Amino acid sequence: MPQFKIAIVGAGPAGYFTAQALQNSQTEDLTFQVDMIERLPTPWGLVRSGVAPDHPKIKTVAKVFEKVAAELNFNLYANVELGTDITIEELKDRYDAVVMCTGSQIGKKLGIPGEDLSNSISAADFVPWYNGHPDYENFQVDLSGKVAAVIGAGNVSMDCARMLAIEASELDETDTADYALAKLHSSEIKKVYVLARRGAEFAAFTAPELRELPKLEHTDVYINPDAIDLAQTRAERAGEVEKHVASNLEAMRLVAESQKSGNEKSMEFLFEHVPLEITGREKVEGIIVKTPDGEKTIPCDLVITAIGYESLPIAGIPFEKGRIKNEDGRVVATNIYTVGWAKRGPSGVIGTNKSDAADVVKLLIEDLKTPKSTSDIRELLKPDHEIVDQAFWTRINAAEVKAGEEHGKPRVKATSIAKLMSLGRG
Ligand code: NAP
Repeated sequence: MPQFKIAIVGAGPAGYFTAQALQNSQTEDLTFQVDMIERLPTPWGLVRSGVAPDHPKIKTVAKVFEKVAAELNFNLYANVELGTDITIEELKDRYDAVVMCTGSQIGKKLGIPGEDLSNSISAADFVPWYNGHPDYENFQVDLSGKVAAVIGAGNVSMDCARMLAIEASELDETDTADYALAKLHSSEIKKVYVLARRGAEFAAFTAPELRELPKLEHTDVYINPDAIDLAQTRAERAGEVEKHVASNLEAMRLVAESQKSGNEKSMEFLFEHVPLEITGREKVEGIIVKTPDGEKTIPCDLVITAIGYESLPIAGIPFEKGRIKNEDGRVVATNIYTVGWAKRGPSGVIGTNKSDAADVVKLLIEDLKTPKSTSDIRELLKPDHEIVDQAFWTRINAAEVKAGEEHGKPRVKATSIAKLMSLGRG
């Protein structure tokens, strides 16, 4: 029976849901071999290096990924970098289709004065830092000041703010990177502002995430109820209030009305605060914002910008507006496809990639003709290249989980490539 060979580049949620969609599309006459290529020695993408450590439930989707990986037609080729170890041309030639699931990793910039001051950082660095991504092991963030400002009204901003504002001991039983946990334990940050440039009715937070905030044991969370009333009135005046806006405003009201316990640590949401300039001599000392009442300076010691992401351009693949240029996932006039944030930009939750993948795989199947008779991807790599295959990754995974058991954590992450590779060698 002819079998089509599909390469998936990127072992994050978009990659695994693409593999799953291919597996689910198999029939007696249509079968696939799926080769998943990943730069790091670890798969799972944002489930490992993006999802906040205090959100372990979201990470249980990794079980679905491992089920996909256990299928006979699936091969993991991790520790293999596109552009270094293998080229896009080679993949295009050898595979019937190549699906780019490479995400968006560059944090968008504000483009305001002072953005490059020391301790003005991007969520695109802070999030992988606390999650133990090997590229960020040596990333420096100074938590010795008292006040942090996180810019953006999305869930990434909220994750960053929460990580700074909760009591570090609440992270002891999570998979936060050891070095980050130590730093958070010695953090002096007491106040975290979340700055939204527009009114509360436009916030990109989602209601379940907002509803968690009043439950924080050691952190008081403030939202001015007047800001919510104003937002509600404006939204009603503009027409029928959309469901997600209504539930967001309702969740914000819960936060605003929640009992404050006089905790040392607090988080405060400030709407209609447009960042104009980050001030300081050598290091962040404040942020100037425009508000409906005029300009003001908020003194702060750390600024984290969480205003969205862009993809890194990949040689040989057309790029447009910070993502791969595509039509419904097809990279026109090639056998390249794309799924996930690389395709649609940084939007949606992990599950969004499931339907995205299913839609693109449908088009990919429509385009297939006769299968290429190609040889093994290993022939393209140097003979001494150490591939992290599923068995190798399983050993890394088991070693991390075992190390976690001793400390009541889901896992203790190895945070350097060398350590990860040594765990996998056994
Ligand atoms: P996002 O949801 O698109 O939010 C980006 C925020 O940045 C918006 O509030 C936007 O405001 C603001 N912004 C953009 N440019 C700005 C500027 N120049 N100055 C000030 N603010 C600016 O993006 P995200 O937070 O990075 O999240 C990405 C995706 O991952 C989202 O779909 C999110 O829901 C998802 N995610 C989900 C979870 C979860 O489920 N727990 C956790 C993390 C991330 P405007 O609206 O005014 O442009």
